[in-house]
Parts: sequence; C-alpha cells; structure tokens
Amino acid sequence: MTIMNLSQEAQSLNDKMAGLDLAERLSLAASLGGRVVFTTSLGIEDQVITHVIGQNRFDIDVATLETGRLFPETVALIAETEARYGMTINRYFPLKEDVDAYAAQYGLNGFYDSVEARHACCGVRKVKPLARALTGASVWITGLRRGQSGNRADTPFVEYDAERNLLKVNPLADWDIERINCLVADEAVPINPLHSRGYPSIGCEPCTRAIKPGESERAGRWWWENDEKRECGLHVPEAALPSLNSSEL
Ligand code: SF4
Repeated sequence: MTIMNLSQEAQSLNDKMAGLDLAERLSLAASLGGRVVFTTSLGIEDQVITHVIGQNRFDIDVATLETGRLFPETVALIAETEARYGMTINRYFPLKEDVDAYAAQYGLNGFYDSVEARHACCGVRKVKPLARALTGASVWITGLRRGQSGNRADTPFVEYDAERNLLKVNPLADWDIERINCLVADEAVPINPLHSRGYPSIGCEPCTRAIKPGESERAGRWWWENDEKRECGLHVPEAALPSLNSSEL
C-alpha cells in the first residue's frame, strides 16, 4: 500500500474507532492484516490492553523492551502477566555491544549529565530494541493517552507512522485515568505495585521517581530535565529529538 493510501486508511480507521469500545478497537486492529504488535511497558494502561487481548485471544504479538534498568517490580510483573493470561510477552533486550559503547562514551549512568546523553541511552536501550520488536510489523498498538501529558494531548486513535511505515493504533487515546482505574479494580487486572506508591508512570528505575500532589502524571520521568516535552524517543519522530548521530538511535 502506498504512503498516501496508508495515511488515508489511518484517517478512516481513526474516525471508525471513535465509536467503538476497547475490545472492538483491538479486534479491528488485529484484523488489519500483516504482523500486529502491541508494545507494553507493563504500566497500568498497557495492562488494561493486555487484559483485553488476553481475554479475547486476539492475534496480536505482545512485546516489551527489557532495558536492563527496569524496577524489579516491573520485571516480576512480566512473568505474572504471562501466567495470568497464558500468553508470551516477547522481551527485547539492548545489544551488549551497544550498552558497552554507551558506557565507554558517557558512563553507565551518563544520562544524568545531558539531554544528549539521556537520549543516547534511550536510543540504545529502547529505540533500537523497539525497531527489532517492530520488524515486519504493519500495525503497532500502544497505550498512549491524551491525558498523560500536554505532549500527548492530540494523540489520535490511528495515525500513519511515516518513519516506521506502519499504522500506529492508540486505542486508549480518549480514556482518562479514572476509567482505567475502574476497569483494573472491576476485573482484577494485575498492575505494578509502584502505582500505589506514587508512580503513575513507570520507566527505568534510575529515571523514574514518585510524583508529588498536583504534579502531572509524567512529572516523575527524567525529572532533572527542564524540557516539558520529555520523551524517550519511542513516540517522537527522530527529527524532533536533540541532535544525535544515527548510530546512537
Ligand atoms: S529511561 Fe533512563 S536508563 Fe532507561 S533507557 Fe532511558 S536514559 Fe537509559
């Protein structure tokens, strides 16, 4: 399918998904053909999506980026989730040579020193493994929500990802956190215990802190940086990131 056709298809699917419930949205995404991949961080939104995929046995590959710097609670939740739903969550690790090269250039925890060093670490531990997770995929499902941050306020249900040449589906785009919490409580969805300790958004352990009352949901991510639009690069076009040479991504 051409780029123009995929853009048009994304717009058409976006309009269609607005009137569907979550299971219907995921069913539609699974029916689009080709390899359909859902990438989960094991955060509460992603656990809701995993729950619906698992309940309905949708033909969707579930993958996670095992960065090597995750909280032990997150790592434990991967196995717990697999057991609960009888599914395999495919783990994508960073390459040892990339991690070693990063440590040699910046230091293992060099991400605290500059935005460039931080994006380089995310590049090695997240963006490159994501590229492997999405190899051959025609549809990529995420747990992005508009309410998570100002940066995500315009998240559509379906968009054309030109960089990866696939359809990106965000079936929870219009859900708020109260609705997420209700479903989790009603259906006993397994979630990360860190959520109840002040971590609404959970990434790598050295780069995530609990938030304070009144702070935005993602205020605890890379909290030492001043940029309000902090992201790891997974959901940001490469051109929008601070200057990095391509080997760092
Ligand atoms: S979140 Fe932190 S530790 Fe994880 S990949 Fe990014 S910079 Fe590295």
